[in-house]
Amino acid sequence: MNTQELNISKEIWEKDQAHLIHPYTNYKKFNTEGSVVYAKGEKHWIFDADGNKYLDGIAGLWCVNVGHGREDIAEIMAAEASKLAYYNTFEDATSIPAAELAAKLAEIAPENLNHVFFGTGGSMANDTAIKMAHYYFNLKGLPKKKKVISRDLAYHGSTFLAHTLTGIHSTHIGFDLVKDLVHYVSAPYTYRRPAELTEEEFCDFLIKELEDKINEVGADEIACFIAEPILGAGGVLVPPKGYHKRTWELCQKNDILYISDEVVTAFGRLGEMIASESIYDVKPDILVMAKGISSGYIPLGATMISDEIFEVISQPKEGNPYFSHGFTYSGHPLACAVGLKNIEIMENEHFCEHVQNLGPYFETQLASLSDLPIVGDIRGSKFMLCVECVKDKNTKEGFADEVTIAKRIYYHAKERGLIVRPLGSLLVLSPPLTFDKDAIDECVYILRE
Ligand code: PLP
Repeated sequence: MNTQELNISKEIWEKDQAHLIHPYTNYKKFNTEGSVVYAKGEKHWIFDADGNKYLDGIAGLWCVNVGHGREDIAEIMAAEASKLAYYNTFEDATSIPAAELAAKLAEIAPENLNHVFFGTGGSMANDTAIKMAHYYFNLKGLPKKKKVISRDLAYHGSTFLAHTLTGIHSTHIGFDLVKDLVHYVSAPYTYRRPAELTEEEFCDFLIKELEDKINEVGADEIACFIAEPILGAGGVLVPPKGYHKRTWELCQKNDILYISDEVVTAFGRLGEMIASESIYDVKPDILVMAKGISSGYIPLGATMISDEIFEVISQPKEGNPYFSHGFTYSGHPLACAVGLKNIEIMENEHFCEHVQNLGPYFETQLASLSDLPIVGDIRGSKFMLCVECVKDKNTKEGFADEVTIAKRIYYHAKERGLIVRPLGSLLVLSPPLTFDKDAIDECVYILRE
């Protein structure tokens, strides 16, 4: 640490406080004492402007999958920027990276998904998914099919539409979101299921509830169901066994499009490039990706649609022959070049195999914390894990001020050199996929402390 760097930190915070609006921030409790100015990253380590080193337990925000500070990605960015920093992909224009990445995604996605629409992040990709579902049913002559079924505690983003899809209802307070569009069913929160139900019965309960919701709203008015394979920001909730397949089958039976939001789960976090089919045996009609697609080196998101949807939406119609949806940065060449390089790195360096091999070790090590008096539940899968803190392990009663407990642990862990994500009473772990045994051991050791 040197004083010059410390001064940088202070100066930056003054500017930040005066001008930067932070996302998802409690301004009442905003506290610059506990704040950090991140300045440098290397593999699964992150350094602040004062030179302190931390183990990055959350990959920035579930996204830096191939790790920080990759020179090969930086080189691609520089090379592409000096070649063709930007051109649009509207109508008959394209670029080499945009076309190459689209083809690569079609290769790694389930076989019915061969068409990609690019944007700059997960919220935009989910907005695109819903607009495509609506457009598809309009063109098919089924204009009543518009409603969306989402789930309590789902997180799908923060744009006007994606925030409405999000089922973390407390975040809706104060915002007037899209009215009467989204219907929510229960979160598959296995730990907090009704006490009298076994896990299997809980699954039956959730499926029955979805079926009832479809009947109540009317399948002829429902366009789609949207689901994360493991709910992330809502609490790393792993649904009971068989849940995904059964929800997908219900959707198929009722002509409801199944949207799999794999913004967090794709690109290796669960040990597969795409989790829906490989792990859960579900073939989504629409697949949404972001974050790990570029390992956070550049904003990029993608919405993949089935051949059947593409067939319909690409047919010109009288009135407006245009598919009138798109963004300046759809298929941004620089972003797509990073996406391609990122996939190449993941394949060449066998990141999925690494997560498959080490994921169970991470799960077991973290589970060793279950003897601690405030640890109620430890859940998740492979490199997407979470600890839920409770006041009483037997009754599962939470702490009165949930926000404080996780925040306190977060500050203590940070002092010891580990960054975890505090969410209510939860501590979330979603590290870079470069995490090795040493990093896992250190992470668990610090959490126990
Ligand atoms: N979907 C999921 C599952 C997410 O976790 C997120 C962000 O965390 C989003 C969508 C929104 O992505 P973005 O913040 O890039 O808009």
